[in-house]
Amino acid sequence: MAEGMEAHGWAARDASGHLSPFNFSRRVQRDGDVTIKVLFCGLCHTDLHVIKNEWGNAMYPLVPGHEVVGVVTDVASGVTKFKAGDTVGVGYFVDSCRTCESCSKGYESYCPQLVQTSNGIDLLDGSTTQGGFSDVLIVSQGYVVRVPETLSLDGAAPLLCAGITVFSPMVQYGLNAPGKHLGVVGLGGLGHMGVKFGKAFGMTVTVISTSPDKREEALDRLGADAFLVSRDPEQMKAAASTMDGIIDTVSAEHPVEALLELLKPMGQMVIVGLPAKPLEVPAFSLVAGGKRVAGSGGGGIAECQAMLDFAGEHGITADVEVVGMDYVNTAIQRLERNDVRYRFVVDVAGSNLGVSD
Ligand code: NAP
Ligand code: ZN
Ligand code: ZN
Repeated sequence: MAEGMEAHGWAARDASGHLSPFNFSRRVQRDGDVTIKVLFCGLCHTDLHVIKNEWGNAMYPLVPGHEVVGVVTDVASGVTKFKAGDTVGVGYFVDSCRTCESCSKGYESYCPQLVQTSNGIDLLDGSTTQGGFSDVLIVSQGYVVRVPETLSLDGAAPLLCAGITVFSPMVQYGLNAPGKHLGVVGLGGLGHMGVKFGKAFGMTVTVISTSPDKREEALDRLGADAFLVSRDPEQMKAAASTMDGIIDTVSAEHPVEALLELLKPMGQMVIVGLPAKPLEVPAFSLVAGGKRVAGSGGGGIAECQAMLDFAGEHGITADVEVVGMDYVNTAIQRLERNDVRYRFVVDVAGSNLGVSD
């Protein structure tokens, strides 16, 4: 296999969750490929699950990162969508089979052969993909999106995963209609984007959280209409049967029964959080009231572009704490402790990526 461009990133070598400098080769540019200098990359809780091998699928060394904003530095022949200098984004995946039912309908994230941006397997050469915590990415143009010029680049990075992951099910399930009542469970990276999109759609938004100290900022800064502490049964009971839909973004095991009680009859709960262990969904909570539970994973490329355009029109970005790569291990520990408002974003281009171990 021909050697591609030299890349410098930070990788996990084992399940400790610790990242350190790692030099590697990107694949050779193919027809239709775009080469991207990474500017910013968000730290998603999925990165944490994966580097710590909580889902049992980690392939080390593993460069995480799938919330990338960068600038196009080079395009191969056949590229029509982008040119050098364009500001672009790359999200959770960089390729898919392009022919299955999901791919044909624009739901690429459900392709059985999805190639994750990080910890994935390239469909053509079988190599392991490495993510955005590195200086350069090479991606087929069909899996790259355009970032609106009006948005701050660091605040836009989390839109590429956190943003699309909540936006897609909101649109798919009609939880984007003015006047409807949306519950957002877990006020983290995904959850705070759910609040922002919900308010931009003209909805009433209630945050359901385990962290009472997030109340003030949820209401004052993020614009939520109400805040419930999920561990307070009285508060939960008082809000029973009031919500049209709930997006559950929680990253750990948690009880679902009390959340289902919040739904109106025929209400829709969408699970996007991915705790390693199964959630218990009581049949009685669903059957009484004809309630529905669905899952949702990321979103398609066209949906992602539509989400970015919507964010551009409404001035929506993530609330971010921008850090250098030398802080990433502390950021990982703080994310694990639920100590971030509301997304860490690494300033990759502004970091000294160091020398490989
Ligand atoms: P995050 O920033 O850590 O937010 C998760 C939130 O869940 C926390 O802020 C916290 O909110 C709540 N939480 C944490 N531990 C909890 C517990 N034990 N019980 C109840 N609530 C708890 O994570 P994220 O980046 O938003 O990701 C959230 C989850 O979505 C992860 O599992 C991630 O892998 C998954 N994910 C899925 C997709 C997809 O395509 N479906 C895409 C991206 C991420 P409060 O403090 O408000 O309680
Ligand atoms: Zn993610
Ligand atoms: Zn496919």
